[in-house]
Amino acid sequence: MAKIATTKFRVASSAYLCAMIRVGIIGGGQLGMMTIEAKYPSLPVEFTVLEQSPDCPAAPITNQFIQGSLNNANDIRNLANQTDVVTWEIEHINVDALVALEKEGKTIIPKPAVLHIIQDKGLQKQFFAQHNIPTAPFALCNTQDINDALLSQFTGDTIVVKTRKGGYDGKGVAILSKADALNNNPFNGDVLIEAFVPNALEIAVIVAIAQDGDYAVYPAIEMYFNPQSNLVEFLFSPARIAKELEEKIQTIGRQCVQKLHSPGLFAVELFLTENQEIWVNEIAPRPHNSGHHTIEGSHCSQFEQFLRILSGAPLGDPSLIQPAAMINIVGPQNVSGNYQLANESELTQQGDIFIHMYRKSETRPNRKLGHATVIAPTLESLLQRAETVKNQLQVVAKP
Ligand code: ADP
Repeated sequence: MAKIATTKFRVASSAYLCAMIRVGIIGGGQLGMMTIEAKYPSLPVEFTVLEQSPDCPAAPITNQFIQGSLNNANDIRNLANQTDVVTWEIEHINVDALVALEKEGKTIIPKPAVLHIIQDKGLQKQFFAQHNIPTAPFALCNTQDINDALLSQFTGDTIVVKTRKGGYDGKGVAILSKADALNNNPFNGDVLIEAFVPNALEIAVIVAIAQDGDYAVYPAIEMYFNPQSNLVEFLFSPARIAKELEEKIQTIGRQCVQKLHSPGLFAVELFLTENQEIWVNEIAPRPHNSGHHTIEGSHCSQFEQFLRILSGAPLGDPSLIQPAAMINIVGPQNVSGNYQLANESELTQQGDIFIHMYRKSETRPNRKLGHATVIAPTLESLLQRAETVKNQLQVVAKP
């Protein structure tokens, strides 16, 4: 099992005490909810969440709730006025408001400049290129300017087109033939065109950067995506790769995050190509779906680590306790509205399965409703067990 620098992380959560920190989170989805759930007794933290809908996952458990828009500068300012440190759990928010608050001396983690780069997949790719971070070949253009000459820069007949802004969870990503990129492009406006990486192994690493610059890198995670929705559906850690390769991936992940010059919790998604090249796909500047297994699988979960970063506590131990897998519980195509998870209590009674539902009142096709984590003593037994659990997790209409 991959372990990194465990001896560095000597501070048990109970050994650290500090003054009360008021954390403001922009966004009240499941990532905010699980961040709040990660609060531990010796870390005095209080939460205020800003979100449009009071029916969001984080609302029932936050200390304070501000109903407002994630894009409204006044609502963000209101959140900042009531808290000591401001962060976000979703990228599509008003970054200019955060830049202004940072200039006034407010602590924003990660730095708003990071969000400015990451909100735009084009700027993000340019950032990778400027810093010699290996990434798939790309071009930036307007959909009107896609032509044969541009497409001929890319080998093969398949191409990936991504909207520069506003995409998430595979929305805003299209894997197309070059002919379709020319004639049936689903997007309109500024896009990123990227070489298609065939048969890539998709890997993620979670990188934690503390306010004092200390860092922790989690073991590599192997991810599997739904080919229709491009949404992650299954992942596990440690990844089935050689130790040296894992260390190389961890180093690339850490170095590219360090180039952002900001504290924060980041997920770096990478492709391991058929030729064993490592190409960074994108960085998420927040807790990420690829780290959900760390709640039960790691000594310090990504969410607790995030809280430690926000509050200035020492970083926790990122190593795995046991191999862990995560299965997303996603709204099926044929059910909308009220729903329930069939077999939920039978599954959770088994002891090695942990179900997290996100308190979403209604299902829609492809909506993330929750996830299940499975742990096992060996990777082999984990993968077998996870396969069985996958088939048992069924979202059905509530009678
Ligand atoms: P999002 O920001 O919506 O998560 P991504 O850029 O991560 O979008 O793309 C979603 C998924 O689409 C990836 O995890 C991968 O499965 C597939 N994909 C994206 N870019 C490429 C590429 N260049 N080659 C092959 N598959 C890709």
